[in-house]
Formats: sequence, C-alpha cells, structure tokens
Amino acid sequence: MPLTHHDWKRRAAALEVDGRAWIDGRRRPAAGGATLDSINPMTGEAVAAVAACDAADVDRAVAAARTALVAGDWARAEPGERRRVMLAIAAEIRIHREELALLDSLEAGKCITEALEDAEEAAVLFDWYGELQDKAYDRVAPAPAGVQATVTHEPLGVVGAVVPWNYPLHNATVKLAPALAAGNSLVLKPAEESSLSALRLAELCDKAGLPTGVLNVVPGHGHLAGEALGRHEDVDALGFTGSTEIGKRFQVYAGESNMKPVWLECGGKSPLVIFDDCPDLEAAVDAAVAGIFTNAGQVCSAHSRLLLQDGIHDAFLAALDKRLEALVPGDPLDPDTRLGPLVSRAQFDKVRDYLAIGKREATLRHGGEPLTAAGGELFVAPTVFTGVTPEHRLFREEIFGPVLAVSRFADEAEGVALANDSRYGLAASLWTADLGRAHRLCDALQAGTVTVNGVDAVSPQTPFGGMKQSGIGRDYELAGMHKYMALKTRWIHY
Ligand code: NAD
Repeated sequence: MPLTHHDWKRRAAALEVDGRAWIDGRRRPAAGGATLDSINPMTGEAVAAVAACDAADVDRAVAAARTALVAGDWARAEPGERRRVMLAIAAEIRIHREELALLDSLEAGKCITEALEDAEEAAVLFDWYGELQDKAYDRVAPAPAGVQATVTHEPLGVVGAVVPWNYPLHNATVKLAPALAAGNSLVLKPAEESSLSALRLAELCDKAGLPTGVLNVVPGHGHLAGEALGRHEDVDALGFTGSTEIGKRFQVYAGESNMKPVWLECGGKSPLVIFDDCPDLEAAVDAAVAGIFTNAGQVCSAHSRLLLQDGIHDAFLAALDKRLEALVPGDPLDPDTRLGPLVSRAQFDKVRDYLAIGKREATLRHGGEPLTAAGGELFVAPTVFTGVTPEHRLFREEIFGPVLAVSRFADEAEGVALANDSRYGLAASLWTADLGRAHRLCDALQAGTVTVNGVDAVSPQTPFGGMKQSGIGRDYELAGMHKYMALKTRWIHY
C-alpha cells in the first residue's frame, strides 16, 4: 500500500537524523565542533545540524581511507567478495528506501515520488557495478615470441568525491558505486544543503560489510571541506559533480597540488529541437514538460532551451500551455506533487533574478512569478519565455530552475546552429520523423547524449557526461568505473 501524504508527514515528524560525519567506520562531530543547519525549503525549518568539517577532518578521513587501502581488504579482495558486499549494499538501500527518500525530500524539497525512484536507482547502480567488476577482463597485447605484454586495471587509490544537492543520494551513488567497484577507498563531501542521505548510506555500506575506512563522508562547506579535498596531496583522483565554475576550481586545486586526475560532471543548457515533422506532438510536449520541470528544473541536463521549427511553433506552444495549467507547485511530501520548492533561499533568489531578466529580454508566456510564503515554500511557477535569441542571457546561462526559453528556427541548418550555440554540451534531444535527419543530427549535435524522439535518456548501461564546458569524463557504464582505475602495462620477457 503506497504511503499517503499524511503517512509521509507523520514519518517526517518522527524521523531521527544524525548529521555527524562518518570517518573511519564511525560517527564523529567535526574536529572543531562546527555545525551548519540544513533547511527544509518547504517549511523553512532546520532539518538537522550537520557537522561542518574542515581541513582537519578531511585529513583524518583521507588517512583512514589510505590505511584501509593499504590493508587491502577491499582493494585486493576476491572479486566475488566485492560483488557480495556491493549487492548487500543495494539490498540495504532497498530496505531503507523510504527513509533515504524522505531525507532527500526534507533537505532538498524533492518530490517524494521522485526521491523514491532515486533510491531505487541508487540500488540499481550498486547492483550493476557489483555485477560488472568481476566480469571486466583485462587485456593481453600482441608481443614478440618470448615476451608477454599485459594491460591491467588497478584501483587508483584514495578517491575524493564532491557532489551537489539536486539528486543527493543519487549523485553520491554515481561516484561511490563505480569507484568502490574498482577497489578504491573514498572520501565523499556532500552538498551543504543535503548531507543526510549520504551519511546514512555510509552506515548502510558498513552494515553490508564494507571494510572500515573504505568509505568516509565529510559534510561541510565547499570552500573548506571541498577545497581541502581538492588540494589534498594524498588524494589520488577526484570525481566532481556541480557547477562549471566550481569544476574549474577543482582543476586549479589539482594543478596546484599533486596533479590528481579530476573528473567533472558540470552544468548544461540542453536544447530540445522540435521539427515540423515531429511524429507525435502530444508525446513531444510531454517530453518538453518533463525535460524542464522535473525536479523544478534543478537538473544538470534539463532541456531548458526549446527550439521550435516555424511550422510547429504555435501548435506546440498551445499544447504546452494546457499542460502547464495542471502543473501547480505543492508539498513535496504529497505523492501527487510533481513540482516542489527550489532547494534554498539562494537558489530561489537566483531564479527570481532570472525571471526579471527574462521579462526584460523576451516575452513571458506562462508563470514568471516567484510564489513564496514567509520562511518556506520556495516555489516558482513553471515559467515559459518565448522569442528568446542567442543574444539573451536566458539563452546562454544555466538557470537551474523551472524556466523554459523558447526560440524558433526556419530549417535544419539553423536548428543545429542554435542547438550548438552554447558553451555547454551535456545533452540534446530532437523530434523528427525523418530517419536521415535523426542520424545527421546525432552526428552534428555537440552533446554527450543525443536522444531522438524522447528526452534525456539515461541508464547505467550507457555513458553520461558532457562535451565542452559541461565536463570531462563519463559517469555510468564501464567508462564510469575505468576512470577510477589506473592502467598498468607489464612486459614479461621469458
Ligand atoms: P556547486 O558547484 O555550487 O557545488 C557542488 C559541490 O561543490 C558542493 O558539494 C559544494 O559544497 C562544493 N563546492 C562549492 N564551492 C566550492 C569550492 N570553492 N571549493 C570546493 N568545493 C566547493 O553546484 P550546486 O549549485 O550545488 O549544483 C548545481 C550545479 O551542479 C549545476 O551547475 C548543475 O548543472 C550541476 N550538476 C551537474 C550534473 C552532471 O552530471 N553533469 C549533475 C547534477 C548537477
């Protein structure tokens, strides 16, 4: 029996949370005793006082991770043993799925229905990488007689991970599952706004049998704990998800410290291109709505630019208007809510500024209003601007809110040029009935993922990541695990 709005509220009221860090297999307050409050964006109330870790805590966590790595219980474990533990972690996530979803909903304002899906996806990733790692074989290279040359993968060592708040549990898992499958030890820094599900996940990993010290979680401010991790001399690689601006800083941190490889999953301004021969207008409109309003637009690959060919422009917008009438912001703990609040006052203020910019630059067609009660309910109505051109900030800048910028184009060449006119290149989607055009655009669009007659397809089986300033490297799939492994070439003369 699915839980009702009332059930979720009761559970939220009864929930006990622990905001202390997880270092070397146990909960600890930050060394300096500092805490930060995570705030529920629906109520404006504090969810938890979370440990605000600093460089001293990061040092301690990295030391624990290094000790665990050297001990080798995980890094050199039998492949079957790693699989057993990874699958046990997936099982623990499923057992605690509702609790994990509730934590994400309370801290990040995520709609509870989506947060439940995120928890299931987190379990799927542990299953997937658990099963992958003992089936990924290494290579024997062609070599002269009397010589054997092999190419093997080994754990990189101690991996740092720094993630944002928009999919708290999921973002953490996308780093943890492949890096753990590869045999590394980890230190994870979650976002200030949303640390609780990652901290709880660390406890569940411990319960499932992950050796002590292999996973550490240090919540805290980016400029303290995040920078300390980025600059740490004993961190061998770092996986980051977040804004392009902070991603660039991690490249600087690495360059100014030990030159650790830095893998970046950063921002986006993804185009959804609709051609006149769109095979299913109603399905394409649904895709456009999902593409920008899921998670209140706080999605890296949100399709925040809608490019409409002239012939379909008016009909598409008329159908979009109808969908938006039904999309009303509500309490994220209500299973019927599809549009929750924005994550924080800062994000709300940023989006409100863009609404004002949009009204100056383009034509407001829907929404455009921040709707907020004192303290909480950081809602923004689903917003659509039309007549947006490449000169507009609406066209170029990542807003990370429920704001859609609509532009129009005359022909294929112009559609492609508009789609590619961005510093970002994370995802792109298009709708057409012309198979030749579909293939031409898959070639031409500068994006890590191109989806035809759908929107923003993602799965563990396919790599996900960005071109241009959307990032470096790929998450998911074999690529997501191999980036946390070192290649070793051996030449054996016999
Ligand atoms: P952010 O870059 O501000 O923060 C991300 C993480 O970096 C947080 O943990 C934060 O504490 C830390 N951080 C902040 N300042 C830091 C500093 N000076 N030094 C070290 N660490 C620091 O991003 P955000 O606002 O939390 O998240 C939104 C951004 O994340 C958007 O740009 C979005 O596109 C991106 N994102 C990308 C993907 C992807 O897969 N490409 C997925 C989700 C989100």
